[in-house]
Order: sequence, then C-alpha cells, then structure tokens
Amino acid sequence: MSGRAPVLRLRGVTKSFPAAGGPVEVLRGVDLDIGAGEFVVLTGPSGSGKSTLLHLCALLDRPTRGELRLEDTDTGPLHDDQLAALRQARLGMIFQRFHLLPHRSALDNVRFRFRYAGPVPDEAARARAALEEVGLGGVADRRARLLSGGEKQRVAIARALALRPTLLVADEPTGNLDRSATEAVMGCLARGHAEGLTVLLVTHNEALLRYATRHV
Ligand code: ADP
Ligand code: MG
Repeated sequence: MSGRAPVLRLRGVTKSFPAAGGPVEVLRGVDLDIGAGEFVVLTGPSGSGKSTLLHLCALLDRPTRGELRLEDTDTGPLHDDQLAALRQARLGMIFQRFHLLPHRSALDNVRFRFRYAGPVPDEAARARAALEEVGLGGVADRRARLLSGGEKQRVAIARALALRPTLLVADEPTGNLDRSATEAVMGCLARGHAEGLTVLLVTHNEALLRYATRHV
C-alpha cells in the first residue's frame, strides 16, 4: 500500500447488541485499514459479524467502542445528522437484495440518490449517464420490478456511484445472482475500481477473490 492516508481506518472497534441475557458482543477489537484504490474482499462464516462490520463502515451504525475514521474525519464525535451528511457525500452501498423501489423506473431509483444531496445540477442527465456506465442506458425508463436480478443490482450500483463516492461498501451483492449476472455486476465494480474507486466487498463466493487486491 502507498503512503497515502487510509480511506477508512478502524481501531479497536467493538459492537454489541442488547439481548435478554445481557449484551452480545458481535465485533471485538477490530483493526482495519482500507487504502485508497484498494479492492478489499472480506469473507467469513455466516453470523461472524460481516454485515455488522459493513454497516459500521457505511456509517449506518456506530461502534459501541473504538475509533472509526473516514479519510480525515473521526466519526466518533459527529452528531447523527453530520454522520448522515458524511455518508451521503462520500459513501455508496449495495446489498444482496438490491433495495430498489420496485414500482419506480431505473432512472428514478438512481435519482433518489440525489434526494438528500442538496441541489445537484443536471440531475436527470447525470442519473442517465450513471445507468449508461453500467450498461443499462436502454432500460432507464423501465420499472425496477421488471428488470432481471443482475440488472437490478447494476441499477443499485449506478445509484451508489452516481455521486462518485470515496468508498463503495458491498454486502454480498451477488448472493442472489446466477453466474453470468455475477460476472456483469463484478465487471461494473472492476471498471469503477480501475477508475479509482475504493471497494470493500463481503461475499461467500470464493471465485470473486480474483477481483480483490486484498483478502481479509
Ligand atoms: P454475517 O453478516 O457475518 O452473517 P451479521 O453481522 O449479520 O453476520 O450478524 C452477526 C451476529 O450479530 C449474529 O449473531 C446476529 O444475530 C447478530 N446481530 C446482528 N445485528 C443485530 C441486531 N441489530 N441486534 C441484535 N443482534 C444482531
Ligand atoms: Mg451478512
């Protein structure tokens, strides 16, 4: 790795959830650095805390203890609205289940990414360009529910990348896809990575390790 400051830096991160018999510690003292331009693939057994970790990295939740920095920002002292603003500005996230609005068009789904970002000039044109980058210019006006699984995930990628995030966090993005759709989705991520995107991806699929610059 180069001498550049990491995009993401976790130190001693612990996460516990309240439970009937007392808090359950899911993550214990996690140290992780992700450098600019890395494509980190994280694997581990089911229930080991991968999604919990990704939620922390995507600023969707906070550590119980420990430090989490995104570039030059220590997220610990931030208020919830500041955390949300940082997430909007710098992070993209994709999930196994796509999280699209089924009755809205592919284009509308991408445009939702701009909703909390303040005024974005040429919003529709930018959303269309984001869809073209994932090879879906031709289905921009089709309702999300009519798309194949692979197309849905590529819409989700277009949405996640539309504002050029610093880091893309992906939780089993190909878990519901067949092999050819998986290749198409990973091709999109690989192109983003080649253009400088930093990626943190969780998967069960060992074949995806060939996209990784580092395996955790
Ligand atoms: P993985 O993604 O590796 O399969 P998860 O991070 O989803 O694992 O879950 C790890 C453990 O944390 C599981 O035992 C799960 O039940 C527990 N867990 C996850 N989220 C919560 C939550 N919000 N409240 C309570 N327990 C949770
Ligand atoms: Mg999970």
